[in-house]
Amino acid sequence: MKKILCILCFLLMGCGNININTNIDDSLYIGINYPKTNISKLDKKIDKYVDDIYNTFMKKRKDNSELNIDYSYNIVNSRYLNIIIYTYVNNKYQVKSFIFDKKKNKFLNLDDLVTDQSKVDSLVKKEALLKKKDINLDKITYEFSFDDSNLYFYLKNYKLTIKIPLSKIPTKLNIKKDNNYDDYKVIKQTNNPIDYKKPVIALTFDDGPSKYTKEIVEYLNKNNAYATFFVIGNKVNIYKDTIRLMVKYGNEIGNHSYSHKWLTRLNDEELKYQLDETQRIIKKITGYTPVYLRPTYGSINDKLRSKTNLKIAMWDIDPMDWKYKNSNTLASKVIQKAADEKIIIMHDTKKRTLEAVKIIVDELKKQGYQFVTLSELEEVKLLRSYEGKKT
Ligand code: ZN
Repeated sequence: MKKILCILCFLLMGCGNININTNIDDSLYIGINYPKTNISKLDKKIDKYVDDIYNTFMKKRKDNSELNIDYSYNIVNSRYLNIIIYTYVNNKYQVKSFIFDKKKNKFLNLDDLVTDQSKVDSLVKKEALLKKKDINLDKITYEFSFDDSNLYFYLKNYKLTIKIPLSKIPTKLNIKKDNNYDDYKVIKQTNNPIDYKKPVIALTFDDGPSKYTKEIVEYLNKNNAYATFFVIGNKVNIYKDTIRLMVKYGNEIGNHSYSHKWLTRLNDEELKYQLDETQRIIKKITGYTPVYLRPTYGSINDKLRSKTNLKIAMWDIDPMDWKYKNSNTLASKVIQKAADEKIIIMHDTKKRTLEAVKIIVDELKKQGYQFVTLSELEEVKLLRSYEGKKT
């Protein structure tokens, strides 16, 4: 019985995230990401929406069923918050937006926003036809959201997003943005001085960042240890400070997809998005471009290999931190199996993992191990093969 269930809930700038990545019996694949806003009316509605989808999925599930829930958001300004939830049940697409006016504590409909709905309707249809010639215009229904420059329409049946500049549509609201982020370059402060004649080991972390990640990063740094973090793209912006710290302290960042979708089940376009969007946002937030991919659910095939230039990173030691709840147990599972050049997989989404990491780092350092990133591990192996001496 294999069961992973982790629920995270954190607060950051008033907007957090809930993340559930589960696989049960190796035959059910669930990746759920949705935001926690701390606006109770909004959270309740989103919770119910996700709950209903989850319950329906669990009722109808068959072997190898996949549920993936992902989101995007526009924090337009301190007043309006837009959340868009994308659901895929075995890749069948569904979209829903929640537009909230924090000042009035109420949800907004399209007619709260625009003066002429029929004009909007014809603009959307015109754009939709340009994007997809065979579209059935009578059957178009859509959700919407907005930011300070555009209105976005999410077609329900076609998985198509239409963007229309606000300048083309007279709006009733005063929409001015008050925060954004800029391109950023993190200066890497440290260099890991590695003695390739001494044992090396690579800690890797999946599914983060989370509220525990920063402490892991700081602990590693204090102990002159380095790790590789396989992050999920849709968390990068929320945890940008933590990710910048990772890079600054000399850790490596890898790609673990944008929303923890089961990559080997996606079509080319969806796969490209999951990989490229994650690369893009990491680059934007840190200036650093990942070279490794850790496939979600550890699932790989020839197609995935052929569609990406990223190096596929698997692992050797899995203490199963989704299963074992005690940090001492987790630590001893790793310590017992520790050996030169081994790769450890853990999840930086749990407090017990954070505690286990401290024990592991302390003990293995005592045993003379050097904690290296995956790129460093490759370098060490290469050096050793040149020298023909393996410790
Ligand atoms: Zn994962």
